[in-house]
Amino acid sequence: MPIVVKIETCNSCETCIESCPFDAIVLKDGKAFINEYCNACTTCLTVCPEGAIIDKPDTTARPAAATANLADYKDVMIFAEQRHGEVASVSYELLGEGRRLAEQLDAKLIVVLLGADEAAAQDLIRWGADKVILNTDKSYEQFNDDVYSEALYNIIEEYKPSIVLAGASAIGRSFIPRVAARLRTGLTADCTSLKIEPETRCLLQVRPAFGGNIMATIVCPDYRPQMATVRSKVMKKGKYDETRTGEIIKLSGAAISSATSVIEFVKEVSELSVDLHAAEVIVAGGRGAGEKGFKLLAELADVMGGVVGASRSAVDEGWVPYCHQVGQTGTTVTPKIYIACGISGAVQHLVGMQSSDIIIAINKNPEAPIFNVATYGIVGNMFDIVPQLISSIRNIKEN
Ligand SMILES: Cc1cc2nc3c(=O)[nH]c(=O)nc-3n(C[C@H](O)[C@H](O)[C@H](O)COP(=O)(O)OP(=O)(O)OC[C@H]3O[C@@H](n4cnc5c(N)ncnc54)[C@H](O)[C@@H]3O)c2cc1C
Repeated sequence: MPIVVKIETCNSCETCIESCPFDAIVLKDGKAFINEYCNACTTCLTVCPEGAIIDKPDTTARPAAATANLADYKDVMIFAEQRHGEVASVSYELLGEGRRLAEQLDAKLIVVLLGADEAAAQDLIRWGADKVILNTDKSYEQFNDDVYSEALYNIIEEYKPSIVLAGASAIGRSFIPRVAARLRTGLTADCTSLKIEPETRCLLQVRPAFGGNIMATIVCPDYRPQMATVRSKVMKKGKYDETRTGEIIKLSGAAISSATSVIEFVKEVSELSVDLHAAEVIVAGGRGAGEKGFKLLAELADVMGGVVGASRSAVDEGWVPYCHQVGQTGTTVTPKIYIACGISGAVQHLVGMQSSDIIIAINKNPEAPIFNVATYGIVGNMFDIVPQLISSIRNIKEN
């Protein structure tokens, strides 16, 4: 409920100004005025000798989703982002995850696509969508906070999904919180895994917390939809099925006019000298590799047609540049083969590579946590093992 001043009753005594812990009350035109810093803490209500400050019922607020029947919210909805008409890879990863969640909930998987063409929508169906809500109008081609928030908000209000997922990309991070705020529901940013709780059928949203030192599971039991953003490369793409069919619901009409206008688009110039995202083989080193070890790892990566990755410790030591860092504050990767040499397996490293198809860990400590996620583990000194691997692979290639 907003706090307001009854102007006609205020006698300008200024008692309320001193009482406010947030400096939210000022004198304006000789009367108390509540500004945008107000936290609705209600401290001022009791201090005004004239009773001029009151709690006013907010008649403009939308009813909280909690007051609606939660059973009305059913399906799983994905926001598929596009740039220059091309759907971002994180959206295909969300489709894989969304499909799995929808099946567990016996629900439909709905994808929202703005500003791309029908061929892109068809492709999303082949990747697992049951329905694609598509608006091909040119006004949606370029991302705009106001426009996308309004469009997605209206679609959610109409289709009432139980779960809404989007990429934790620059686009998703920018407008999804606005949509959640308008819907009066919760949002978990940067999730690394999602599950359905069997008893409650609620979405369990897992993400690193407290600087990545713990993994927190967040639930949104009373409000709908349950909203989450997910980092790129954390989840696997679904299965592509050429013969899969679904429904495309075409929305017409241009976007609302926005308060912002775009002057120019400038193409991003990446500072990455190594493309960890695209690599099918990554040979990564940690503190155990040392500067010398990285020369060996580069050789192994070379014979395997891969690239070099690194733990943060190795980057902090200055053995390799930041663009090689894998993990929570580096790049999230999903190669076919990830070889971790002299890396202990701290949780911040694991969140960035544990979805790799095959993980091979080489570590001289048999208790190192990296072995908990490894497909194959080799206990030993990497300076003995890596040269053997290099020569064996060379032999195989030559014969
Ligand atoms: C907010 C935050 C964000 C972070 N983000 C990241 C991130 O993005 N990426 C990341 O990697 N870390 C990150 N970290 C750091 C993380 O917590 C660990 O400190 C780091 O991953 C440890 O790196 P490491 O495994 O190389 O080193 P260590 O933990 O020191 O492990 C070295 C390992 O090498 C083994 N070893 C030593 N010599 C040899 C040898 N000759 N042969 C074989 N094995 C050997 C040892 O047994 C040991 O297991 C972050 C931390 C915080 C707090």
